[in-house]
Amino acid sequence: MNIETVAAAAYVVAALLFVLSLAGLSKHETSKAGNLAGVCGMTVALLATGLVAVDHGLDALDAGLLLGAVASGAVIGLGRARAVEMTGMPELIALLHSFVGAAAVLVGWNGYLHVEANGSSAELETLRDQGLLGIHSAEVFIGVFIGAVTFTGSITAFLKLSARIKSAPLVLPGKNALNVGALLAFAALTVWFVVEPRLWLLIAVTLVALALGVHLVASIGGGDMPVVVSMLNSYSGWAAAASGFLLGNDLLIITGALVGSSGAYLSYVMCKAMNRSFISVIAGGFGAVATTVGDSEAGEHTEVDAAAVADLLAEAESVIITPGYGMAVAQAQHGVAELTSRLRARGTAVRFGIHPVAGRLPGHMNVLLAEARIPYDIVLEMDEINDDFSDTDVVLVIGANDTVNPSAADDPASPIAGMPVLHVWNAKQVIVFKRSMASGYAGVQNPLFFTSNTSMLFGDAQERVADILGHLEREPGAPARRVRDAASRAPVGI
Ligand code: NDP
Repeated sequence: MNIETVAAAAYVVAALLFVLSLAGLSKHETSKAGNLAGVCGMTVALLATGLVAVDHGLDALDAGLLLGAVASGAVIGLGRARAVEMTGMPELIALLHSFVGAAAVLVGWNGYLHVEANGSSAELETLRDQGLLGIHSAEVFIGVFIGAVTFTGSITAFLKLSARIKSAPLVLPGKNALNVGALLAFAALTVWFVVEPRLWLLIAVTLVALALGVHLVASIGGGDMPVVVSMLNSYSGWAAAASGFLLGNDLLIITGALVGSSGAYLSYVMCKAMNRSFISVIAGGFGAVATTVGDSEAGEHTEVDAAAVADLLAEAESVIITPGYGMAVAQAQHGVAELTSRLRARGTAVRFGIHPVAGRLPGHMNVLLAEARIPYDIVLEMDEINDDFSDTDVVLVIGANDTVNPSAADDPASPIAGMPVLHVWNAKQVIVFKRSMASGYAGVQNPLFFTSNTSMLFGDAQERVADILGHLEREPGAPARRVRDAASRAPVGI
């Protein structure tokens, strides 16, 4: 059996492992096994590719470069993955997508320099004889285009997610015409390049695609960023598939298509859950007109202290907690678990309402609540609990903002208009835990904070929850007990 056959068989095994990996990752219970299948698939793929490279007469220098690249990539990747906070995952993922995009651009350029630009290349002669040179040129051009859009789009997403640039949408005059113009220019340049593969055409498409990537993602508002991350995931898959065609690597084509189509489907599912138009989001907010962005105050807010909230909770029969990104930042989930346990012990009905994009990752809140051992049966999805707020005495909004913003439901000019939100304002009393009156991730002011049944409890959520626990501990007439150490992060069982 020759090496090519072994490698082809190994690629099929790796592709199957990637399919198993995706299937495993679709459920909490099987996600670890799914991850493991992905790691095994990638190991098989790397070994097979190494074998093919050796078979093609890899010299010592090339082998050293290859091993050095794999080793340094593995060390940096492992280090970043171990160090990253869960709240920093989307920005890390965006950065990783940008590497796939950059790789596709480099592979495309390399293909051009080796074939079209190299008059003495044997490959050029063969492709010309077989009448396949046009196909090669199209592969180069499309690969570079998708790669460059993915590269700068992902860098822009990284900058937005890590708050290095504003998350509010960039609204340039004629932004839709700019996007459509870039796509038309790409189509025209592709035809020209296939007919006449000139260097300046490749430079032009690279520049157009780099600018389009920035514009597509910068035009999308912060509230839609979860969809953008999965959309860039899809783009990175198509970029990898384009590189696979150019390199003649079947596994790269299969893997790229798997990532591309699963990312596109995830984007579609998320768009449906967020009541967004799929076409509009992939076209950089095409047709969306945002007018009321900003965090200027919209009225008078009421402040409350932890003692008053403790009294309110002591009298409440029903409580719903809606956590958000701020709970993750404050690492308040353990205190929240203890508060839940304490209230339930007093006979209060406590439940959680989870918005599908609360936090910075799909399932972010579920993971934090599970880590703090909050029972699954009191953790409900938005749709399961949204009609129950009107029968609820107290809602604790812990570090959530966009996901409880009523303007999504009643202000058609809001950038988050139409996004389903938790109807917390229907409860008798709403307490919002946050540190200031600043807006949420979408950069939109929240009218909830100014309604008559809402009070703000300012400060770090972990500290404020600890204060409430301290007040709840005190028996009537007894001296105040020590407040639980706010910095403590030890897990508390229920
Ligand atoms: P938001 O990001 O809208 O708001 C979080 C709030 O938490 C802020 O207003 C902030 O106010 C407060 N906060 C921050 N730190 C603390 C702290 N230590 N203690 C108390 N409060 C704190 O959160 P949501 O979860 O409601 O919404 C998520 C947003 O992120 C949505 O717009 C979503 O589209 C977007 N997104 C979601 C992703 C996902 O996959 N889930 C991925 C990318 C983006 P202050 O500064 O005043 O304290």
